[in-house]
Amino acid sequence: MIESSKIKELIKKYHENKLSHAFLFVTNDLNKCRKDIKEFIKQISCPQNYQENCEECNLCYQIENNIIPNIKEIYPEGQLIKKNQILELKDAFKAKPLYITNNIYIINNAEKLNSSSANTMLKFLEEPEANILGFFLTNNKEAMLETIKSRCQIINIRYENQSLLEELNSTAEEIVLFQKLGSSYLLKIINKEENGIYLNKKVLLPNLPDRLSVNKFFNYLYLISNEIINQKNIPKEFAFLENMELKKLISLQKALYNVLERIAFNVNIELLLDNFVLEMEKI
Ligand SMILES: [Zn+2]
Repeated sequence: MIESSKIKELIKKYHENKLSHAFLFVTNDLNKCRKDIKEFIKQISCPQNYQENCEECNLCYQIENNIIPNIKEIYPEGQLIKKNQILELKDAFKAKPLYITNNIYIINNAEKLNSSSANTMLKFLEEPEANILGFFLTNNKEAMLETIKSRCQIINIRYENQSLLEELNSTAEEIVLFQKLGSSYLLKIINKEENGIYLNKKVLLPNLPDRLSVNKFFNYLYLISNEIINQKNIPKEFAFLENMELKKLISLQKALYNVLERIAFNVNIELLLDNFVLEMEKI
């Protein structure tokens, strides 16, 4: 299923014959955006009546698995997208598309194009009649070369619901720790089962060795509170928060947010955590 409504709209444009031939997608989630683009390509190319996850047809299978010669995908090699990668692409697209209407390329992390590889691209971008459709993807618009930007239709796509892992840049191991530690910590503080200041000293701080991990931990709890407020799926460990009234949830989120805001400054961590506990006592 295509997640982004902006990519769904392109299907309509395609059928109206109003599609641009080069797009720059600026997104916070490259992976989801790339998946949406692949889905878009399937929907406009499928020779059958395209159905969700078109299992029926050979072409959709080939598109999904990158084995159709008309579709090329480029990733940076090391820190750069190199000129010879673009030359290879040009070579492959000399032939008219066979199985689908357009030759299609996807450039992942397009900000990694340097001026020499980008210059090699320009011919594609300037000959819309060549049956070539191009998708550039980036999460860093500022770093994109002007020569490419100015020749593309720019579409900004923000995906919600990034997985917590991606959002926090944490390891799976860290998330498991945050889940266990965070749920029991909040439960005890909310139910006033144990003295929060004692918990900070004896439980939290020994498990969170530095400022960065305290920061990630509170970020995690903040994201969880967000998911609950938005009635999304949350780890079962935090199910006790689902019964909390909304007003209290919002106060909890505010207290978490205050920690995150202050942690950026050079405040004493223990003091910061104790302040959090005091704030929690008021809700
Ligand atoms: Zn199909």
